Amino acid sequence: MRSNQTKRAAVSTIVCLLACAAGAAQSPREPDWTAVQTETMRHFQALLRLDTSSPPGNEHRAAEYLKQVLDAEGIPARILAVDPARSNVVARLKGNGSKRPLLIMGHTDVVTVDEAKWTHPAFSATRDGGYVYGRGAVDDKDNLAAALMTMLMLKRLEVPLDRDVIFLAESGEEGNTSVGIEFMVNQHFPELEAEYCLAEGGGATRINGEVRYATVQTLEKRGRGIELVARGVAGHGSVPLKSNAIVHLAGAVAKIGAWRPEIRLNPTTRTYFDRLAALSPPDVARHYRGVLSADAAVRAAADDWLFDHEPRHSSMLRSSASPNIIAGGYRSNVIPSEAKATLDVRMLQDENPEKFLEDVKRVVADPAVEVRFPTEFSRPPGVESRLDSEAFKAIEASVRRVYNTSTLPVMSTGATDMAFLRAKGIQCFGIGPATDMEDGPKGFGAHSDQERILESELHRFVRFNWDLVSSLASGK
Ligand SMILES: [Zn+2]
Repeated sequence: MRSNQTKRAAVSTIVCLLACAAGAAQSPREPDWTAVQTETMRHFQALLRLDTSSPPGNEHRAAEYLKQVLDAEGIPARILAVDPARSNVVARLKGNGSKRPLLIMGHTDVVTVDEAKWTHPAFSATRDGGYVYGRGAVDDKDNLAAALMTMLMLKRLEVPLDRDVIFLAESGEEGNTSVGIEFMVNQHFPELEAEYCLAEGGGATRINGEVRYATVQTLEKRGRGIELVARGVAGHGSVPLKSNAIVHLAGAVAKIGAWRPEIRLNPTTRTYFDRLAALSPPDVARHYRGVLSADAAVRAAADDWLFDHEPRHSSMLRSSASPNIIAGGYRSNVIPSEAKATLDVRMLQDENPEKFLEDVKRVVADPAVEVRFPTEFSRPPGVESRLDSEAFKAIEASVRRVYNTSTLPVMSTGATDMAFLRAKGIQCFGIGPATDMEDGPKGFGAHSDQERILESELHRFVRFNWDLVSSLASGK
């Protein structure tokens, strides 16, 4: 009896092994990558060829395309719009609910183009020399195509999911969020509600054709203008006055230009500079390490170097203020009674706005100059996405598998749609394809006059997206 049972168990194990092997061969969980590449290129080019430049947008073109592709696959997609010409698309693959959903998104709008400057027409999606050219190639139709392909693959391969995977293609990211993410968050939040979200804002950096590291956006600054308004007595230009508003304003602007608000790090920037130092040659690494020093003099010296050589890194250390508009005077023989400058202020998330305004007043130190906020923040405050979260660890693991490199969390100095989701408690991570570090400065980056992506990196990004989403959602 006992021996019979053992024998039966052994036989059934063998049968099971054979059946399992056969089953695995019949329904592989790994996509057919050759076919995926062909399909990726088809959707990517189709999306690039839809002119969704904003203004006016016309993102409904992309929305309808995406809905038709998703519907055809048996993934019901909904079009949601406050303005029918600027619609959004949302679709969901159901999981077993043991984990909270994952939102994957890309924006459908692109910035406008100056057609005369494009060698390959901006909406032609021309393939040339291993690149695809077109407005949106790296902002953000790359993320859009990758998220779409991941949805299609998850559905086709019937990947069992621990959590719902939600796809969102939103309009209006480039300067008109009221029709896109704001509308979706305010009117349709239950359809987006997720534990984690993946959007644009990161990428892998190639130097001499080799990926050196990947960045993942986990935090961004908050933008809000500050105005400096100088007031004085109007008079005849032939009689210089001490109260000349332009003189007072110029003095105030010069002081702001020379001002360097205090350095304040957070988990993202601390980890970023630490990991960047480990990847950099010693002469540069010492500046990144200097930023992390407990010694204020060492920190200041490192900051000086960054301000001279890598200003974006200097901005990542602090809330910043850049005087970008100046207005005053209307004819040369009139001393104007008023002159105004507008500062672009980018605050750290933990900045106290009122205190910052007081700091600006203290720096300006001129009773003839009023310092004020003319408007509210353009985006709500949000909490930094956690570096010890399941999502960040999954990103690091996928980066290692697909790019064989390390991941640096990064704080954007600019703003993204993720701010609206972070404000609702969703932990968002900005990802993106690999690009050559020198490609942007050469004029091939986002918003440039010859935007392009390497075909090989588009395909690798789809693999990365698939690897990351399937590991985070299927619990593999
Ligand atoms: Zn973008």
